Amino acid sequence: MSTQLLGTSIIGFTRSTGTESSGQAVNPASGQKLDPVYVAPTLDEVDQAIALAGQAFPEYSTLPAAKRAEFLRKIADEIDAVVDDIAERGPLETGLPEPRMRGETARTTGQLRLFASLIEEGSWVDARIEFAQPDRQPLPKPDLRSMLRPLGPVAVFCASNFPLAFSVAGGDTAAALAAGCPVLVKAHSSHPGVAEIVGNCVLRAAQATGMPEGVFSLLYGSGREVGMALVKDPVVQAVGFTGSRSGGLALMEAAANRPQPIPVYAEMSSVNPVVLLPGAVEERGEALAEGLFGSLTLGAGQFCTNPGLIFLPDGCGDAFLAKLRELVETAPSAVMLNHGICQAFKEATADFADTPGVTTVAHAFTKQVEERAVPVVFTVNVRRFLEDAELHGEMFGPGTLIVRGSLEEIEATIPELEGQLTATVHGTDDELASSASLISALERRAGRLIINGFPTGVEVCHSMVHGGPFPATSDGRSTSVGTMAINRFCRPVSWQGFPQGLLPEELRDGNPLGISRMEDGKRV
Ligand code: NAP
Repeated sequence: MSTQLLGTSIIGFTRSTGTESSGQAVNPASGQKLDPVYVAPTLDEVDQAIALAGQAFPEYSTLPAAKRAEFLRKIADEIDAVVDDIAERGPLETGLPEPRMRGETARTTGQLRLFASLIEEGSWVDARIEFAQPDRQPLPKPDLRSMLRPLGPVAVFCASNFPLAFSVAGGDTAAALAAGCPVLVKAHSSHPGVAEIVGNCVLRAAQATGMPEGVFSLLYGSGREVGMALVKDPVVQAVGFTGSRSGGLALMEAAANRPQPIPVYAEMSSVNPVVLLPGAVEERGEALAEGLFGSLTLGAGQFCTNPGLIFLPDGCGDAFLAKLRELVETAPSAVMLNHGICQAFKEATADFADTPGVTTVAHAFTKQVEERAVPVVFTVNVRRFLEDAELHGEMFGPGTLIVRGSLEEIEATIPELEGQLTATVHGTDDELASSASLISALERRAGRLIINGFPTGVEVCHSMVHGGPFPATSDGRSTSVGTMAINRFCRPVSWQGFPQGLLPEELRDGNPLGISRMEDGKRV
């Protein structure tokens, strides 16, 4: 491996000199500890990283978009240059296979370059201009111009299940840096080496492109100490998080209880309901079973868009269930991301199996081995499902629950579900044409609706919404994937009666940047 791992945090442009161990990565396949020992920063160093971010903000937030785009592209180039190191270290730390590491690296660098293009194009700032009308009666109208401006330093918590795309230089970091916000990253203990490899890339890119010190820091240490110190510090203005519901709720509470509360964009749990309509099940039952099985077991089921809840109407589905059973019972076991996540999956599936009214449809029990997961499918009647809120929760891993009932009962259940990242319907053309009320009920519960597809596989693009009502996320008005994520880290500002020279370029007469704007209510 060309990267030498030091095991220390990155504080602005320097390395932490803390000495207290924050642990080592553990290979989830073997249980073997991986060098080096990671060291937590001292609380003084955490304060220093935050102070540097605060000092960097005025300069970084007013750099021309082209300079920030150059920084984002340089980060992407630096990461691409060490993809072999990521492909070597990543599987050891996460149990995820090398092709996944390479694929996720490409997604991450593509994401950074997409944000670079977005800010170069410039229209994302939502510039609005209302020209003055001094002669308006009964009162003159002032010249008023508005656009989005960055919030300030952002704390980003790395996700265990996406060591690249939702971690050090992942979606939240790319969105915040694109918006003009310095970023303080809290590393995840599951993949500290990958975090350091990527952190070094961001550091090199910041120095090479002349960014102010403090635009980026990477901090090891515990969530309760280092993470909470970030969330509670008055300099920090927003938080991005992907992980457990308890972790997300703790951060939301801390952020809400600050003297100045700040937004927390926490992605927590989602079971991503899939409604199978009878015609589709009869027409292509086996293909549906194969598609759902692929989606359920992808990445050992450790995707936030994993289909954990399937509605199957009564009176159909024999071929579908037979195929699903065959696939599940012959499925290989898979290493999960870490011991805690594997244990949590086993406990969740044991709880489902023990719940009155729940039946196991398929489970490769014989292949159940320590530190590995096998897929499992349960079923329950819709009325029993409605009685027991525990059955609405996430089994983070390759586990799903099939809920059976009449179509009317299924539709009546949708409003009782918690908020979701996705909701899927499979139907024939005729069935879909008469499913408007079902689809609109699903729209009220989810951030992304899918017809005749599967929820895993989240495209990074301008129109993606990877968000949803609570508890899928803490704030369903935003997305963590795609360019709309930039809005998380901005707020609108109006300039009233300003001379041209004091206005941001985006708002000046003659539209010098040539961006799409709204002028007196018309899009130009
Ligand atoms: P996690 O336990 O929530 O940890 C994520 C990050 O948040 C870590 O950096 C952790 O710090 C920090 N953290 C957690 N609780 C905190 C608290 N009370 N105060 C401050 N910081 C806190 O999530 P995880 O380790 O990724 O996985 C645990 C479970 O979360 C999984 O089994 C799964 O159920 C769920 N999960 C869901 C998704 C999803 O997308 N739906 C994704 C990942 C995980 P430390 O480093 O100190 O632990």
